[in-house]
Amino acid sequence: MPNERILVVEDEQAIVEIVSQALKRYGFDVTTANDGDTALDMAYSLRPDLIILDIMLPRMDGWEVCRRLKSEGETKNIPIIMLTARREERDVVEGLELGADDYMKKPFSLAELMARVKALLRRTLGRDLGKVITNGEIQVDLEGETVFLRDVVIDLSPTEFQLLEALVKKPGRVVSREELLARIWGLYGGDTRTVDVHISRLRHKLDDGNKPRPVIQALRGRGYRLTWED
Ligand code: CA
Repeated sequence: MPNERILVVEDEQAIVEIVSQALKRYGFDVTTANDGDTALDMAYSLRPDLIILDIMLPRMDGWEVCRRLKSEGETKNIPIIMLTARREERDVVEGLELGADDYMKKPFSLAELMARVKALLRRTLGRDLGKVITNGEIQVDLEGETVFLRDVVIDLSPTEFQLLEALVKKPGRVVSREELLARIWGLYGGDTRTVDVHISRLRHKLDDGNKPRPVIQALRGRGYRLTWED
């Protein structure tokens, strides 16, 4: 199955970059447009699976792009997430009346945008694009094997990813070293110091200097648990 193609329409290059990078990490194909005219051309020629559309754009604003796409048979079923810097309820209502499928207010959370993209694709394409587990400020995307801490992607080894996944799945509860050893390394009754070594690397990577701080506590003779400290 080919990857879903997402068209990102936004004239602020910094936002284009960060949204595109995040989408690519999730395995999507990404095309970008910096103004309304180009966005329309691309939507007609590429038929993306979803469009992330900013409102304030040069040449033709996002409202007009949305209105035109939603009024034509060939493009009206392409789901659109509008990005709005404005806060008036009126604008949101207007957008939804024009046919936008969802909207996000700037500044938005990258992890939340990804979650909405997936939810919308799931709804429109009927495809399950994988589950995301949230624990405090950490989001673990199981399918994309991506971890976000406060919206920033944390670069983890496959082993560290599996360790974190095991801890995140049991919020506040203790996971024993033996269980981790069995689940991740497939070892029963081996040397649990292997686990400790990887946990200490994981701790280091989760320390972004911000609060609340994710803490992997070691409980003597019992195992590890993930908690948050203010
Ligand atoms: Ca803009």
